[in-house]
Amino acid sequence: NRPLLDVRDLRTWFDTPEGVVRAVDGVSFRIERGQTLALLGESGCGKSITALSLLQLVPEPAGRIVSGEAWLDGQDVFALPERAMRRVRGRRIATIFQEPQTSLNPVLPVGLQIREALPAGLPRRQARRRVIQLLESVGIPDAERRYDAWPHQLSGGMKQRVMIAMALAAEPSLLIADEPTTALDVTTQAQILHLLKELQERTQTAILLITHDLGVVSEMADEVAVMYAGQVVEAAPRDRFFAAPKHPYSRKLFRSLPSRMKRGEALAVIAGSVPRLTLEFPGCRFVERCPHAWERCRTERPLWLEEQGHGVRCHLHDVRAPRPESSSERSG
Ligand code: SF4
Ligand code: MG
Repeated sequence: NRPLLDVRDLRTWFDTPEGVVRAVDGVSFRIERGQTLALLGESGCGKSITALSLLQLVPEPAGRIVSGEAWLDGQDVFALPERAMRRVRGRRIATIFQEPQTSLNPVLPVGLQIREALPAGLPRRQARRRVIQLLESVGIPDAERRYDAWPHQLSGGMKQRVMIAMALAAEPSLLIADEPTTALDVTTQAQILHLLKELQERTQTAILLITHDLGVVSEMADEVAVMYAGQVVEAAPRDRFFAAPKHPYSRKLFRSLPSRMKRGEALAVIAGSVPRLTLEFPGCRFVERCPHAWERCRTERPLWLEEQGHGVRCHLHDVRAPRPESSSERSG
């Protein structure tokens, strides 16, 4: 029983005047059919670059996929030539982004934009009917009339609904949603998340949900992968993650929230900043911000430790070599 998506040891690096930025540096995860994996982390931790890598849309020539595999339904998409990749994008892997207005064509009625995303070869009348069905299924009232609406005539929430209709038009097996509700007000956020869940139940589309928002994770995710400085530092089923987060970074994410489930809270309220990814890391990337760090954390890279489907990259959880009692705690 293979997963729908199986990403192994993905590395995506960028050449910059300051040196090579290891934006994504050894990322692995899996998503099952009909399930949602949330990639959680602060901005700049490599979540979006991970998504762009899967689509082979890393900005060239600075960026490049250095190594890794991404198996979609048994096929390694990194091995596909650009022509085949174009058929994967928008068809087998669809995307919705934070700002729907930048993804919609301003000079084309929304109905026609959705129609272009339908599988090829549908007769005109049938295609129109299908678009109206899709508009209705994403909760756009008066769909018949909205078919001819211009993007600027719609609110932010309505535009995001159109984006979702467009993404689902091709019946993708994977939907990548990168901060899909961040630009929306709280009520509209809730509606859009609800809609995504409902559509997922109906279509069994797998979702890779990129977010910095623990509230969104708690509502949407089946599985959670926490990213920090280009790596996955913790991964677990949602309930186990919320019950007992293991990585010091994950725990700080929880503690940084005024109330656990509060939605719309940015994560960048943790003391210190993400390390520069041009550096070589002899040890743990979180060492400068970690209240539990000791000598080993500076000199030895933490390996991925997994127990009953709950994985973590941290020496604290290495039972063979426990942290010495004498190591001094730093506040943080
Ligand atoms: Fe903190 Fe050390 Fe664990 Fe890194 S390996 S998160 S520095 S305790
Ligand atoms: Mg991003």
